Order: sequence, then C-alpha cells, then structure tokens
Amino acid sequence: MATNRTFTMIKPDAFGDGKSGAIIKMIEEAGFKIIAAKVTKLTKERAGQFYAVHKERPFYSSLCEYMSSGPIMAIILEKENAVADFRKLIGATNPADAAEGTIRKLYAKSMEANAVHGSDSDENAAIEGNFYFSKTEEF
Ligand code: UDP
Ligand code: MG
Repeated sequence: MATNRTFTMIKPDAFGDGKSGAIIKMIEEAGFKIIAAKVTKLTKERAGQFYAVHKERPFYSSLCEYMSSGPIMAIILEKENAVADFRKLIGATNPADAAEGTIRKLYAKSMEANAVHGSDSDENAAIEGNFYFSKTEEF
C-alpha cells in the first residue's frame, strides 16, 4: 500500500542559483505539504552513504563530488500517492528527456546537476527522510 510521504533534496546547483523558492512554490502548488525542511551541506563521504545504492555505477564518484559541492535543502513532503506524484512533478533523470513543465525540465542543468532528488519508493522515502531528520512532527 502506498504511504503518503516522499523525500526530496534541492541539489547544489539549484540551491546555489537561488531556485529553491521557485521550486518549493511548484511543489506546494502541486499539493504537497512540507513536513520537515532544512539547509545542510553533505561531505563527500555522507553523499556516498546517501547514494550507496549507486556505488558500482560509473557516475558515483562524480555524483558524490557534486552533491557535496555546496549546500542543499532536504525536505520531507506529504501528499496522497506522494512518491509517484512527485516523480511525475520532477520529470526524468536526464533533463533532455524530462516532460515540459517539470521541475527538472525547468531547472536542471545536466543529467548530474538535475536540480532535485525524488525518492523512488515508499521504503526509500522513509530511509532517506530518516537520513536527515531524527523526528518528524504530526500537525
Ligand atoms: N546520475 C548521473 N548520471 C547518470 C545517472 C544518474 O549523474 O547516468 C545522477 C543524477 O544526479 C541522478 C542521481 O545520479 O539524479 C541518482 O540517479 P538515479 O538513477 O537514482 O536518478 P533519479 O532517481 O534521481 O532520477
Ligand atoms: Mg533515484
């Protein structure tokens, strides 16, 4: 059964360019509620832990460098069908393939610097949220 939460990061390129406000506006207008949010900066080692599932992939080292290159914003979001609906809102991993009007189509610079993260399953949404937040309140 689908849970109602997902996890996102506004990545260093988009955050550094001052796009977090515009991106959060799109997220809220799509019906997501912010449950937790913070600005933080990953070390390369911690980025490696977050993306450990990709450690055998050729892009892993570069991805970890990039994700630790500047501050990011980590956000837990809530909405019915959150994981699938958020993946739809952000668009394809490669911005060249992302649909018109998606966050990545609008703000990604490259396959790597693609503006935002989005969890790929309910299970990973919980793991990723717990990576940044020790406790999330119910309002
Ligand atoms: N990535 C990359 N090159 C690739 C595939 C992925 O640099 O060929 C980066 C990109 O920043 C992506 C992240 O690694 O967002 C995680 O990859 P994944 O396949 O999980 O894509 P996502 O779930 O973020 O769409
Ligand atoms: Mg992924």
